[in-house]
Amino acid sequence: MDETDTSIDRIKRIVVQRLESLGRAGVTQLPRRAATAIEASSPQPKPTTAEPTRAVKQESTDDMKTGRSKDKATGLAVVQKEVAACTRCEELACSRTQTVFGVGDPKAKLCFFGEAPGADEDRLGEPFVGRAGKMLNDIIQKGMGLERSDVYILNVLKCRPPGNRNPSPEESANCREFFERQLEIINPKFICCLGTVAAQNLLETNIAVGKLRGKVHEYRGAKVVVTYHPSYLLRNPSAKKFTWDDIQLLLGEMGLPVPERTDR
Ligand code: SF4
Repeated sequence: MDETDTSIDRIKRIVVQRLESLGRAGVTQLPRRAATAIEASSPQPKPTTAEPTRAVKQESTDDMKTGRSKDKATGLAVVQKEVAACTRCEELACSRTQTVFGVGDPKAKLCFFGEAPGADEDRLGEPFVGRAGKMLNDIIQKGMGLERSDVYILNVLKCRPPGNRNPSPEESANCREFFERQLEIINPKFICCLGTVAAQNLLETNIAVGKLRGKVHEYRGAKVVVTYHPSYLLRNPSAKKFTWDDIQLLLGEMGLPVPERTDR
């Protein structure tokens, strides 16, 4: 097989992957500009971004920037369609089962911001649904007295890094636009960063999570509290006490009472 065959096979694989993602996102027709994304995802000396379709980009820009959005759910659906078609990170776009956009109340006052989908999330298309998801549910329900449906949950990356490796800086940069637009639409008053990758990307810092936690930070008008990732808590149960402190800090900022704990 020569080099040309290899490139064609690769492009075919990307096209099939993309069409499947679009189908899962409910896209039944492709705009003409969609070809641009496919072209941009073919092998290039330096892989860069695939431009969203002009029509979709214009619609979402209007929705978010001018305040003419019909509602937040509509704005998020626009971004979600772009994410479903995204092939900016070639390795992730080829290996994902589906993109994992976010879940919860589009009008939530509180967002939980994590790292990237794992195997369960990649399979089910929803963030925090595995063991780490159960831990997060406990934090929300037992730790805060809220329901999962009261908040919005999203990640830095919308695609699973193979083998659950950490996102590369380039992948995080590629996906940044999407989480920024999600947060712009939702406009939460509070954000809880779960783990190093989430905190460092949101706050644009290299400071370790251990030094970021215990304080209130700021992201575009929202108060930000940093705590450990639920996966870390599963591996290091002794760190749960620190997360409990962080959640109390968050509850205090939100003006919510600290619920009685029955499981400690
Ligand atoms: S991780 Fe984000 S930027 Fe990269 S391919 Fe997936 S949706 Fe696109």
